[in-house]
Amino acid sequence: MGDISPHFSRHEFSCKCGCGFTALDVELLDVLEDARTHFGAAITLDCACRCAKHNAEVGGVPDMPV
Ligand SMILES: [Zn+2]
Repeated sequence: MGDISPHFSRHEFSCKCGCGFTALDVELLDVLEDARTHFGAAITLDCACRCAKHNAEVGGVPDMPV
């Protein structure tokens, strides 16, 4: 049980470096919920968003959409 939808929690949409940056896209959440329901299996979000600093540290693309 998530805290922002039936299957997802806010922390899954937060930057993993601990900076507190969060990018929650409601349309993305709807798509994820539909996929979760369709496949009937858990979907794990490893890295839904990164702040610029964390993105640079892990070698991500500079203009990654959030
Ligand atoms: Zn960060």
